[in-house]
Amino acid sequence: MYSILDFFTIGIGPSSSHSVGPMRAAKSFVDQLREHDQLSQTARVKVTLYGSLALTGKGHGTDKAVLLGLMGETPDGVDVDSIDKRIAEIDETHRLNLGGERAIEFDHENDLKFDRKTKCKVHPNQMKLVAYDAEGETLAEQVVYSVGGGFVLTAADVEAIKAAKAAGLKRPDDRPYPFRTGADLLARTQETGLPISGVVRLNEIARRPEPEFRSEVLKRWQVMQQCVEKGCRTEGILPGGLKVRRRAAALYRKLQARGQSQDPLATLDWVDLYALAVNEENAGGGRVVTAPTNGAAGIIPAVLHYYMRFCNGASEDNVVRYFSVAGALAMLYKENASISGAEVGCQGEVGVAASMAAGALTEVLGGSVKQVLQAAEIAMEHHLGLTCDPIGGLVQVPCIERNAVASVTAINSSRLALAGDGEHHVSLDKVIATMRRTGADMSAKYKETARGGLAIEVNVIEC
Ligand code: SF4
Repeated sequence: MYSILDFFTIGIGPSSSHSVGPMRAAKSFVDQLREHDQLSQTARVKVTLYGSLALTGKGHGTDKAVLLGLMGETPDGVDVDSIDKRIAEIDETHRLNLGGERAIEFDHENDLKFDRKTKCKVHPNQMKLVAYDAEGETLAEQVVYSVGGGFVLTAADVEAIKAAKAAGLKRPDDRPYPFRTGADLLARTQETGLPISGVVRLNEIARRPEPEFRSEVLKRWQVMQQCVEKGCRTEGILPGGLKVRRRAAALYRKLQARGQSQDPLATLDWVDLYALAVNEENAGGGRVVTAPTNGAAGIIPAVLHYYMRFCNGASEDNVVRYFSVAGALAMLYKENASISGAEVGCQGEVGVAASMAAGALTEVLGGSVKQVLQAAEIAMEHHLGLTCDPIGGLVQVPCIERNAVASVTAINSSRLALAGDGEHHVSLDKVIATMRRTGADMSAKYKETARGGLAIEVNVIEC
């Protein structure tokens, strides 16, 4: 079963499903070649991207991510400033250093294909990797699916999950306080007398020592802060051909110059700033923390920055509690619906992140467990049906601004819940089920294909 840390991984922009997942898949393929003593025999590797990976992969940097993974890089380890140079070297030399240890021929155009026609039956984010020996014989072949949030499943994993579901089996859960639904989570808190973060803490320290858990959480918070800082001082035009100008740096200067404001909503400008800074870094291929996806990576840090700067009680302990609650809520969505825009639209990315942030903020502001679940429910309820239609397949418009708007919605959802007693009409579990069904009913053109909505209103010249 998941750890909450799985939903906050340090990686690179612009997309968890289209860059982080494919990079991991490519690296894992090469690791397996090495394990089976096939790396030294490999003379060529071919990768084919299908479905949403093919349709929006160019704008999402999927090709670069795959090449980096083939070279043995990881999303959290790669030097983001060296990426363009390394890709240019492959294009110039037509050679790729497989696994960082074996130079093979590689023709970017022919060895990495975007197949926009073949239909994906299992999951819309499909890729196939094949390794050949010097005689052109197949050494290894793997089909994998990037299922959102940087998670990757092999075809065998998918079959095993299907078989388990058909047999009525549930995923094994060895946590001392297991939960799959909001109702389970409420029950665990009632049994233990602990808040949600307390239940999460017991589950997490059952698998690793508490100091390690805290330090992993705080490391992620530190990367989020560095990401905001970098976003606040980086100017220019974002890559991809849409010519979107970065706005965070100018807004930061304006807010600094303004000082104390009499405007009662001045705090919201700072929330907008934090989200814009993160999502501009993400769109520029910078270092971000997936939370729970990259397209929605600004919301969790924006709301936490808001809490740390403007609310009483800010402390490292409460940072850990915030991540714990947010991660527990992410698990409910992953388990019962989806966090993939290609599967359920943007409600599964920005909607989920807003719901996580709303619930987490509510706990650190002193809300009851019922108020936490209500805040999470409110934030998702008002994102139901949100489509994914990124212009030019880039994670820029509407994604960057959408994170700012959703961060404010998360804060407002928390305030609405805190104003009541936690009793509410629609349960979190019902809204999650509704999100899943709405995603299933949604036309494919609104699920990260850039073939509907805003995406067809603006022409983009890819570069
Ligand atoms: S519209 Fe939403 S789901 Fe689609 S790429 Fe942008 S942030 Fe991700």
